[in-house]
Amino acid sequence: MTFYESVKGGQGEILPMEIITAVRGFKDILPPETEKWRHVEETARKVFGAFGFHEIRIPLLEKTELFCRGIGETTDIVEKEMYTFLDRGEESLTLRPEATASVIRAYLEHAVHAAETVTRLFTIGPMFRRERPQKGRYRQFHQIDAEILGPDDPRTDAELILMLIHFLDRLGLAKLNLEINSLGCLECRPAFREAVISFLGSQAEELCGDCRRRLGTNPLRVFDCKVEKCGEIISRAPRLNSFICGDCRTHFEGVQEGLRLFGVPYRLNDQMVRGLDYYTRTTFEVTAEHLGAQNAVVGGGRYDHLVRDLGGPDIPGIGFAIGFERLISMIPESGEDAPQGPLLFIAALGEKAAERAFILGNRLRMNGVHVEMDYAGRSLKSQMKKADRLRCAYALILGEREIQDNKALLRNMRESAQEEVCLDDLENTIMTLAR
Ligand code: ATP
Ligand code: MG
Repeated sequence: MTFYESVKGGQGEILPMEIITAVRGFKDILPPETEKWRHVEETARKVFGAFGFHEIRIPLLEKTELFCRGIGETTDIVEKEMYTFLDRGEESLTLRPEATASVIRAYLEHAVHAAETVTRLFTIGPMFRRERPQKGRYRQFHQIDAEILGPDDPRTDAELILMLIHFLDRLGLAKLNLEINSLGCLECRPAFREAVISFLGSQAEELCGDCRRRLGTNPLRVFDCKVEKCGEIISRAPRLNSFICGDCRTHFEGVQEGLRLFGVPYRLNDQMVRGLDYYTRTTFEVTAEHLGAQNAVVGGGRYDHLVRDLGGPDIPGIGFAIGFERLISMIPESGEDAPQGPLLFIAALGEKAAERAFILGNRLRMNGVHVEMDYAGRSLKSQMKKADRLRCAYALILGEREIQDNKALLRNMRESAQEEVCLDDLENTIMTLAR
């Protein structure tokens, strides 16, 4: 552990000061892990770009009202998980727990819908939920979020899911399960809801406390309960499938047909309601069995009334959110993924050589060549050790004598061969190696 020292109380007494650690549930992402993150982000940008998506960047902080209205007052997120506080101006603000509500807020605020009938947006960034931290569950976590606003054609749903599966494929992820369901619409869901209320009402004393409360506020949430007994009761509850209207059924069949056309394997799960209130019709989840308890990697679905509920026109939408940390934890480790080492290490011996190294090294860097060196004046042996540890392809040895003779030694680290190069040609010689 590192300690900062401070002089306390002017008495000359030096006390070690404890380091400040990150907040519980908030974690640092260090190199080389960050390289993996960048690879995932670049793959997302490439794949989503080909499907016509553009990146949007939205604030981390929003008015609390946005999430209460967007996600739903009686969802777990809004009831228990949000980081909400009054700012100094007494306004209630919230660190975003998800991105969809913010994307739509921006979409409406900038009247994007007036300029185009179909909008495809994606965003990548941190979300905040005050849950119990554990493996795969953090208080600050990251999502890759994609939304399509405008169309309600089932092909749009199939296309979005296809893009998602293709993206996961490109990352080399196997053994994933795609589950889909339809939650119906405002026409057919009320009757289903009534049937669920009456079924659950008859079993109320067996439900957990949370679910008994949900019965009065948001009965479909019971489907999401992780308590074993509730799960057992729910497995006997009425299914939306018996209530779904003709339009919703045709829509859902269209989505499945689109998936089948591309050979995307999926499983129907008529118990999946998803944790947010805004979903209508198609909903989906991608899970990975080997992730353990936190096995959901992606959640998504259609939200045909959210734009209107947030004060906009009647514009349908569909989107998904990928949990970045859970995704990253599944990406296979392979030697090829290891970041490449620097092209060159400059080992300088003596003040004159260090001056030369300073100039040459930084000129090469400005030309895009990855060069490492330091000015600590260490022995040749320890500098070469460092070049080796960093996995540099070449090392350039600059000693006082070499400089006097206007030359340097260029060592090929992999082949353990070295040659003399003239100082005047040095930059060109190295640039040729970089090509
Ligand atoms: P869970 O059932 O695991 O709580 P959720 O239904 O709350 O998931 P969504 O709101 O659908 O999750 O978010 C989409 C994805 O974001 C999840 O599938 C998951 O991969 C990731 N995610 C959600 N909450 C967290 C968290 N606290 N820490 C890490 N990842 C998370
Ligand atoms: Mg959750």
